[in-house]
Amino acid sequence: MLRWIDVLTYAKYGNPEPVRRVNLTEEEWAAQLTPAQFRVLRQQHTEPPYRNAYCRSYEPGLYVCAGCGNALFDSGTKYHAISGWPSFTQPLARNAIRYLFDDSHHMQRMEVRCNVCAGHLGHVFPDGPAPSGLRYCINSESLSRVEYQA
Ligand SMILES: [Zn+2]
Repeated sequence: MLRWIDVLTYAKYGNPEPVRRVNLTEEEWAAQLTPAQFRVLRQQHTEPPYRNAYCRSYEPGLYVCAGCGNALFDSGTKYHAISGWPSFTQPLARNAIRYLFDDSHHMQRMEVRCNVCAGHLGHVFPDGPAPSGLRYCINSESLSRVEYQA
C-alpha cells in the first residue's frame, strides 16, 4: 500500500519507471483531446467542483487516463471526500502515477500526473481515510471510466 512517506520519497528522489511512455506535441494533444480535457491534462487547470462527470459516480470499473489510456484507479478505492472532485485512496499500481512538488497558487501541494503521458490529473493530500491516509483529488476531465475486462 502506498503511503504519504512513499509519495514524498518519489517526489524528492525520483518517480518509478512507467510501463511505457507517450510523448506528443501540444499541437497533437490539442487535436486529440476535447478543449476541457486539454485545459486540465496539458495546462494544469482545475475543473469546477461538483459540476464534473465522476464526482458522484460510483459505478464499478477502472479509471484510465483520458489522454493515453493508462490505468490509474480502481472504482473500489473511490470514496466520497466532500471535495467536489472524484477522490481515491490508492492508485492502481505504484508506477501508474508520478508525483511533483507544486508551489503554485501560493500553496504547497503534491501534484499527481499520469506516469505514461505526463498529463496533469490533480493533487494528492495526506488527509485521506485509513489505512493509506491518502486522498487523490482528481479532475474528472483527466479520467475515463471503462468496464472491467472479462
Ligand atoms: Zn496518460
